Amino acid sequence: MNDSQGSCASAHYTEHHRRSIAEPAQYWAEQAQQVAWFRPPENALQTLSDGTHRWFADGQLNTCYLALDYQIERGRGEQRALIYDSPVTGQQAIYTFNQLRDEVARLAGLLRQLDVRKGDGVIIYMPMVPQAAMAMLACARIGAVHSVVFGGFAPHELALRIDDVKPRLLLTASCGLEFDRVIPYKPLVDKALALAQHQPEQVLVWQRPQAVASLHEGRDLDWEVALQGVEAVEPVPVSSLDPLYILYTSGTTGKPKGIVRENGGHAVAMLYTMNQVYGMRAGDVWWGISDVGWVVGHTLIVYGPLMAGCTTVFYEGKPIRTPDAGAYWRIVEQYRVNALFCAPTAIRAIRKEDPEGLLLKGRDLSSIRQLFLAGEKLDSSTHQWLERLTGKPVLDHWWQTETGWPVTAPCLGLAGHHPAPGSSNRGVPGYAVHVMDEEGHLLKPGEQGSIVIALPLPPGCSQTLWGDHGRYLQAYLQTFPGYYNTGDGGYVDEEGFVYIMGRTDDVINVSGHRLSTGEMEDLVGQHPAVAESAVIGVHDEIKGQVPLALVVLKDGVQQGTEQVQRELIARVREHIGALACFNRVVVVKRLPKTRSGKTLRAVLRKIADAEPYSMPATIDDPSILAEIAERLS
Ligand code: AMP
Repeated sequence: MNDSQGSCASAHYTEHHRRSIAEPAQYWAEQAQQVAWFRPPENALQTLSDGTHRWFADGQLNTCYLALDYQIERGRGEQRALIYDSPVTGQQAIYTFNQLRDEVARLAGLLRQLDVRKGDGVIIYMPMVPQAAMAMLACARIGAVHSVVFGGFAPHELALRIDDVKPRLLLTASCGLEFDRVIPYKPLVDKALALAQHQPEQVLVWQRPQAVASLHEGRDLDWEVALQGVEAVEPVPVSSLDPLYILYTSGTTGKPKGIVRENGGHAVAMLYTMNQVYGMRAGDVWWGISDVGWVVGHTLIVYGPLMAGCTTVFYEGKPIRTPDAGAYWRIVEQYRVNALFCAPTAIRAIRKEDPEGLLLKGRDLSSIRQLFLAGEKLDSSTHQWLERLTGKPVLDHWWQTETGWPVTAPCLGLAGHHPAPGSSNRGVPGYAVHVMDEEGHLLKPGEQGSIVIALPLPPGCSQTLWGDHGRYLQAYLQTFPGYYNTGDGGYVDEEGFVYIMGRTDDVINVSGHRLSTGEMEDLVGQHPAVAESAVIGVHDEIKGQVPLALVVLKDGVQQGTEQVQRELIARVREHIGALACFNRVVVVKRLPKTRSGKTLRAVLRKIADAEPYSMPATIDDPSILAEIAERLS
């Protein structure tokens, strides 16, 4: 691209962004015309007195229709909709849009037979099998609200979500698979149901041959058996404001936040994301490398690509060991993938195993246009390594479960991309990104503070928390009136490029997964030998961050330190799950505190990461820091 083309293209992005902020209702009403509504909305935007917004309130649509039936009506029935590739089982399968629609329509018929109605909650606790996507789409087809719980979560976490969603039905599979072992899911579900107050009426179990589950009579049903003879059902119209799904994400407490995604805004946002942000066109092959348990799985494995008429690759495997660090390159070549999304942690794992990229040699990556990375900070060395190795643009972008789609990104459909290394790019149209100090003053370019987004948030972003609107207002809107507080810190440069430095709260990011250190601290504190503790996120070469617990034991504790350490590690694993990577517990005599008694976590983090730190002016007893540094060295 020469200079004049570059500035012309950028002007296109700039004009879109300007209009989206200056006249949001008009801008998004135009974008909404891309959606095949059952009843097109006339009223694009309403502002409520509490500062939240409603998009397309009077529109009616069905998300499953848009993802499947509408694509078939547009002549894509025989196009590949979903490619399932599972190195852990050796299976590969292709579903065309026709086939996927038929499967989903029958499953929706079964849900209805099981008395699941519009507005009812459904929990989906499944591994990466196509039936998980079918379950999501089947819920959407009849207007039920799904909540997918990541299969790596332990029963306690599943039980919390069951009690919050109060599902009529729970869908699961008999097991998940890792490269080296089978993880039976059904015992985890049984345990969660024993812990939960609320009980779904029925549990539908997808039996996998690797570990067939035993079924509780009366409550549990074999998925395939139950489907026999069930008739397909048509998509039902739902209101734009009806929830499509609830997805839980970690806040700063042990109680996860139930993000609510509404059908209307989501549909508009999905088409915009796939076309304008990622530059994808109908017929392209898209690979969102994640899990249906995360927001990326919703946006970029199931809904986004299908609603945009793309083929989605549905991968049940890992970046390494299934069977090796060449797995990604094999998939790209085999299915002629046009663009992919993954988290930096996956690339760091591949790089560690195959630093010279030997497993990529001889692979044909010519189909790939770009690689999109997000979920955590993309360090420059990983960025450069991947770009050098693949010879393709590697594009960083930033978003959250709450927004459901990118906040800052290179907008390829608007030709709005200029590389700015280290930055997650500029605000996507709809997002006016600013930086504020603690008192709520807007900061100048280059100055670091809290990253905020001016209201209204564009369509698709969560406007409430399931069952707790007050917590939404308090967590996101009250700190900086008129702005949504992202919980991330960083700065914006003169040209509007955004640099994310990390969270400003007690949330850490392990392999791209958000976890609450507060929750871990609660669990650690419940151990009878523990007087007090601090759990912080420390740097990890592959996972980005991992938790580290500093623990002060009660006087006179009889148990040996090692036993307490082992018990604490087991406790967090049992309550949260192995995904927390909670493996480091260091026993110390005291924790560093301010004179008002607050634990000095920022300093602890610096010491643990071997970074220079200055002695906090408010510290109560400076000698503690040297002691802790010695224990951590
Ligand atoms: P989640 O809601 O689990 O998707 O996590 C969202 C959080 O991940 C954000 O608030 C950021 O802290 C972090 N994150 C996501 N993308 C990026 C990125 N490109 N660079 C830095 N941090 C990111």
